[in-house]
Amino acid sequence: YDDTYDAIVVGAGLSGTAAALTMAREGLDVLLLERGPAPGTKNVFGGVLYTPTIRELVDIDDAPLERYIAEKKFSMLSADGDETAVSMRPSAWSDDPHNDSYTVLRRRFDEWFAKQAEEAGVTLITETTVTDVLRDGDTIVGVRTDRPDGEIRAPVVVLAEGANSLVSETAGLKDRPDREDVAVSVKEVFKLNRETIDDRFHLDGDAGAAYHYFGEGAVGEAVGGGFVYTNKRTVSVGVAYRIEDAAQGQTPEATLDAFESHPAVAPLVRGGRRIEYSAHAIPEGGADAMPDLVYDGAVVVGDAAGLVLNSGVHLEGTNMAVESGYHAGKAIAAAIEDGRTDEAALAAYPRDLEDSFVVENLRHYDWFHRTIATDRQFLFEDLPRALADAETEYFKMDRSSKEAHTDAARERLLDATGGWVGAAKRAWRFRRML
Ligand code: FAD
Repeated sequence: YDDTYDAIVVGAGLSGTAAALTMAREGLDVLLLERGPAPGTKNVFGGVLYTPTIRELVDIDDAPLERYIAEKKFSMLSADGDETAVSMRPSAWSDDPHNDSYTVLRRRFDEWFAKQAEEAGVTLITETTVTDVLRDGDTIVGVRTDRPDGEIRAPVVVLAEGANSLVSETAGLKDRPDREDVAVSVKEVFKLNRETIDDRFHLDGDAGAAYHYFGEGAVGEAVGGGFVYTNKRTVSVGVAYRIEDAAQGQTPEATLDAFESHPAVAPLVRGGRRIEYSAHAIPEGGADAMPDLVYDGAVVVGDAAGLVLNSGVHLEGTNMAVESGYHAGKAIAAAIEDGRTDEAALAAYPRDLEDSFVVENLRHYDWFHRTIATDRQFLFEDLPRALADAETEYFKMDRSSKEAHTDAARERLLDATGGWVGAAKRAWRFRRML
């Protein structure tokens, strides 16, 4: 390698490629390093790609998108096989740009995105793992890779290595996240005919579905949820829950098996051929758990910086990854133009991110994880069952009056919430979700 790069980006995921592309457009010489044989091959993802920022960077008309999200469904599953669901299909989501929400296969999308960066002048080198940063005193001046003679120097290093941020941790740029701030996720991909998927999920053309599941029937006694997303010819099914619960003996494999066997989920993937199994971490500590984002000669972006929003109804990391890469790229270009890349010179990055939807959304939902953890028995076990019991009572077909059914349904719900006072307290605690 020559030592002529202005910046080295560690990881060709969404955040790294967005940073590299932004810097190249600003005229910098950028080296993008990826440990996988191609960008996206090491990626694990549900998932729905949110494209408002990507769309600003590249023309996504030719991007390998799978389906746009035409329907979202949120379901409570009890361990007894009950399902209570709210589903929505606003007609606006069928119109271009489809609310900027698309399922993608990261293997294909990340490779395409990195190709756009290469076309803008970025040098991409794959099958190269960064093992550490190089320092001159406290300043980061490059990276060490697993290649022979693999030390590369540059004024700025962008750490975009994802949730498993070993380089940043080894270099002491961030602490290992607390167990309660990380979710473990396992996912399987089932191959099915396109027509079968369309029929099962009531879809037409490029329309797709994103189903989210909560409750004991989704993830047992853990704090988390399950998901089902439709691609063109595959369906992704997975669970994500706090790593702390996994450490207490709830294995990801058994949790995913139980979820896939739930009567609400099993028919969706019946007959599908399993073609992929993967596991990954999701940082979900919110704004409180964000590490410092700049150092002398380095910035941290995307999942490595903990930029994922999980508020129960939103699971968003892709848009935050791209937005952070974009702001980092802009700030680095300006700093290099000024001839300085110390922490103060790079400070525009955290400042701009702070002013963007990324930090604002993380702060808005900071309360969420800690609050649900304090009420897990109610939310994950009692509520799904109580809802199913209340529905059963309310719609019961017998010879008693509707008023008697309504009273019985209300009683079931109040039993679970601890009466009117308990219900009011919980409504107050979770008011911010709305
Ligand atoms: P990554 O996409 O993880 O990319 C990091 C890259 O760095 C990888 O290519 C990796 O191979 C490379 N790398 C790592 N270490 C090194 C190294 N030492 N040297 C060289 N290369 C290295 N977000 C959504 O918006 N919608 C969803 O539906 C959604 N669902 C999800 C479901 C699951 C199961 C998981 C795990 C996550 C989901 N997310 C979702 C979150 C989303 O995937 C991430 O927020 C996003 O991928 C972060 O992008 P990134 O570029 O920061 O990291």
